[in-house]
Amino acid sequence: MGGGPAGGGRDRHAGRKLVLATHNRHKVAELRAILAQAQVPGDIEVMSAADFDFAPPVEDGLTFAANALIKARACAAATGLAAVADDSGLCVAALGGAPGVFSARWAGGHGDDAANLALLLDQLRDVRDQDRAAWFECAAALVLPDGRERVETGRMPGRLARQPRGSGGFGYDPILVPDGLDVTAAQLTAAQKNAISHRGRAFRALADGIGQI
Ligand code: IMP
Repeated sequence: MGGGPAGGGRDRHAGRKLVLATHNRHKVAELRAILAQAQVPGDIEVMSAADFDFAPPVEDGLTFAANALIKARACAAATGLAAVADDSGLCVAALGGAPGVFSARWAGGHGDDAANLALLLDQLRDVRDQDRAAWFECAAALVLPDGRERVETGRMPGRLARQPRGSGGFGYDPILVPDGLDVTAAQLTAAQKNAISHRGRAFRALADGIGQI
């Protein structure tokens, strides 16, 4: 693991390098842990898009897969390296799958986790316990510099609590009780969450493709 070329630019003599198309440090750490656990074949240097200098693309896709591909394509084009990106969100059955790709900005501002969660709980106040099914979904995209592409998806099904519980994780974790558990995703350790999470599942499915870069 290590830093990439400062100030951007293509690295045409790259060995086996993979760029994670995110500037979110929490996500880089989570993806590194998942990839380490996924037993990707061979030794691959994992970098972050933050190691390079390019503008992030507009995520205007209407599906997780579309947005993951938008991010991975932009990153591969800017760096000349294999790139992976993910896009994820919370889908609520009673809302027809929303917030979905709008999860990060459900309450207006991008990434205001507390406001997103409060608005959602308020919207679902009158929804009965048996109707509170929801799932986290993730699409993970791998784009190679030669244009080959692959997308895998993963889900973490569960139900929505009425009150936030737990301080781990991020986003909607404090209100999603994964199926088969009595605690929220925010009450799991990082390793416990990675083992069953939508992101863990999507990236483990992508592991053999990553091993071929
Ligand atoms: P993105 O994949 O960074 O675009 O995530 C979009 C939004 O989905 C986040 O801001 C969170 O609100 C939500 N989200 C995605 N994955 C998770 C998760 O594992 N736990 C909680 N919220 C999540």
